[in-house]
This record gives sequence, C-alpha cells and structure tokens, in this order.
Amino acid sequence: MKIDAHAHILACGAEPGATRFLKEMSRGYLQATGVLPADRPLIESDWESAVELFSPISPQFCIEDHKQVGVDRTVILGVSPSDYTPYGLRGTLDPLGMTEVPGPASLDKGNDYMAALKEAYPDDFIAMASVNPRHRTPGRAVAELERAVDDLNLDGLKLYPGIDQYSPDDRDLAFPIYAKADELAIPVMIHMGLCSASDPSLKYERPWLLDDVGRCFPDLHVLVCHAGWPWVDECIALMVKHPNFWCDVSYVNSLWSRREMFEFLHRCKRAGVPLYKVCWGNDWPCFEPLKDLYDKFVTMNEEAEATGLPPLTESEMSYLLGGSFELFARL
Ligand SMILES: [Zn+2]
Repeated sequence: MKIDAHAHILACGAEPGATRFLKEMSRGYLQATGVLPADRPLIESDWESAVELFSPISPQFCIEDHKQVGVDRTVILGVSPSDYTPYGLRGTLDPLGMTEVPGPASLDKGNDYMAALKEAYPDDFIAMASVNPRHRTPGRAVAELERAVDDLNLDGLKLYPGIDQYSPDDRDLAFPIYAKADELAIPVMIHMGLCSASDPSLKYERPWLLDDVGRCFPDLHVLVCHAGWPWVDECIALMVKHPNFWCDVSYVNSLWSRREMFEFLHRCKRAGVPLYKVCWGNDWPCFEPLKDLYDKFVTMNEEAEATGLPPLTESEMSYLLGGSFELFARL
C-alpha cells in the first residue's frame, strides 16, 4: 500500500491569524525557490502570487492529487487547538462547511472535523487527532484524546509542542498524553525540527527532547516529523536507540535535492536505522507539486552511480513508500 505519511487539510485556524501563520511559515521557502522575490524585502502585493496557500483545503482535492501519483491512502493531520499565540484562534477549522459537521465552527470540534473526513472517505484517509495540554488543562486534553479515539474512531495523534509552547518531555503536560496514547495503543506523530514561523519555540523542537519519551514509553509508537530537520542526526540517534521510533521525510522532501535525500537514507542505514523506520511524506499540499516530489523520490536510485552508494532495494523503497507507516501505525 502506498501511503503519504504527512498531509494537511481544511484550515489551520481562523483568519487573520491563520494567514499570518502560513505567511511566516512559507516565506523563506517561497523566496528560496523563486515564487516570491528574494532580491529585495517583500511587500504585501507579492503575496498575490501565493494566494491559494491561504484557502481551506478540500478532501476531494487531496484525494485527486494523491491518486495521480498512485497513493492509496493519505495521512491527514489535525491541528492542535490554541488561542494564546500571536496567530489567534488556531486549530483544525472548517470555515466553508466541507465536513458538514453541524453547529457553529469551534476550536473544540477539530477532531470532529477530522472524524467526519475519515467517515466520508474511509478508504482514502488515515486521520490523526490533535490535542494540546495547554489548551484549557492537561486533563481535558487527555479526555479529548480518549474521545477522539474511542468515540470518533480516529487513528492516532499529532502533537505540536513547539507551536503550542510546551516541552515534549514535560512530565506534567506531555507525559499524561503519552500515557493515554500508550493505553489506547495508537501511534503518535510529533512535529520536531524547525517550524519556520516566528513564534514557535525552537527549544521545544529539538528531537533529543523525545529521548525520555522513548525511555519511559518503550511500547508507544512515536514518529518524528520532518526527520527533525535541521537536527537530523538527533532524529537518527533516537531511531537507533529506540525500536519504537520512526520518522517521516516531509518538508525535507521539498528542501533537499534528490541526491541529498539519497545520501540521508544511506546515512540512516550506516548509523543503524533500517529504512522500515523511515516514511515518505510530503507536508501536502506541499511547497511544490506532489507529482514533482513523488518523481524526485522514486528516481533516487539514479544517484547511485555518482555517489558511489548502492541503490536502495525494491523492498526498502516499498517500506519507504508505505510499509514503514503501516508498521508505525500497526495497520
Ligand atoms: Zn506538516
């Protein structure tokens, strides 16, 4: 089964905070790749060329875009709720009513929106809940996680400690959530590494902070998103140490050249991380067309000759493109 391990859907918050967040997050990448000018400071009208970035993302678009590269299932990630950052009301929101969840839009319905998408498209989506221990109380977050899995039938959990401003090794805030996830036997994906908006805390995005999670919850399946870039070696170290850790290569799949990805995967292997611990993902809707990212990834072995490294085997490619996520999520 071919799986995109990392995609986003609907809206990541209410306006104008959501647009502010998306602009801050994408500015550097869009300047680096020539979508926005980089030879002078940006002005407001420059963003007109990137305006589709700020529209809510429909499930139909997500499914169609993935079908054209043969993806069977896409992992859609909820956004954790918060109302205390400079980005206003953040969370999974459905301002256009795409999910048909009744009643007024609310931050507290983020997991209901995700569940509605999974229910409408059960063959296409693997849907991750999200909670935030600093939104109200840690106890409320734990109860919401239980509701999301037991009542709403969501498949796992996504956490954003840097954006939500807590340490992922915080015994009072984060550990009760891991304990509940462990009890529910659900997989946990954690944003690690740079989130390029200005408010998220880099100090909470260092992969090594998850070492104690690995030590204290050896049965909990944990996935380090974005390979923890720029601290990819910390991410590799976690995967070497902890049999219950995986990573995805979303975002770095855009950032890196084909050769850099090929060399990274060999770096993992040499360090003792078999590739059934690494998942292909794209942070869809991505910074560039999914087809381009897919083609770049699946033709990686063309770098073998120039790098002097052996090609990845068919089995390794098959794990990267879906098998690794199946192991992580116990599918
Ligand atoms: Zn993402």
